[in-house]
Amino acid sequence: MAVYLHEEDLPEGALAPGILAIDTETMGLVTTRDRLCLVQISDGGGDEHLVRFNAGSRFAAPNLKAVLADPARLKLYHFARFDLAAVHHYLGVMAAPVFCTKIASKLVRTYTDRHGLKDLVRELLGKEISKQQQSSDWGAPALNDAQQEYAASDVRYLHAMHAILVDRLAREGRTEIAQACFDFLPTRALLDVAGWADRDIFSHE
Ligand code: MN
Repeated sequence: MAVYLHEEDLPEGALAPGILAIDTETMGLVTTRDRLCLVQISDGGGDEHLVRFNAGSRFAAPNLKAVLADPARLKLYHFARFDLAAVHHYLGVMAAPVFCTKIASKLVRTYTDRHGLKDLVRELLGKEISKQQQSSDWGAPALNDAQQEYAASDVRYLHAMHAILVDRLAREGRTEIAQACFDFLPTRALLDVAGWADRDIFSHE
């Protein structure tokens, strides 16, 4: 099990077929302002691949884009809405189909309002992850060991949690409504970037 850091694209054939776990790190929370710095990927086999983009990158990354856009590969995220928007804005591909562990958690863990990745990993898998590097400088020309480990840990547990959450959704009879939410996420992400980030277009107001 290792963490691989790549510059500007994924090497061809780096990933096994099947479901992928995806996360991104950016310069901040405003997608159109805050550039995409890192895309993290796990194929569930125990390695994590980090693809770093430099300041001024043209975001060519043909191998990464092909994998992200592959309609045959389910992509797992924790809060897919943000990552889909960043990937679409900077890489120009919609990285679907989607399973979002945060939405699944909200649909089945109705006994808590703690749906952060750290809380979910702790409850479902009994593992501890650190969020200390979350707000560090992801645009730096070199990522330190703590940043690389943090970035990798954000995709390390999504496959295991996906398996558990699929069972929990089925147990609670919420598989279909969860799927409908996941299917809407690309549209929700596009609305965010198009200027409706803070407006709920379904609300009466
Ligand atoms: Mn992350």
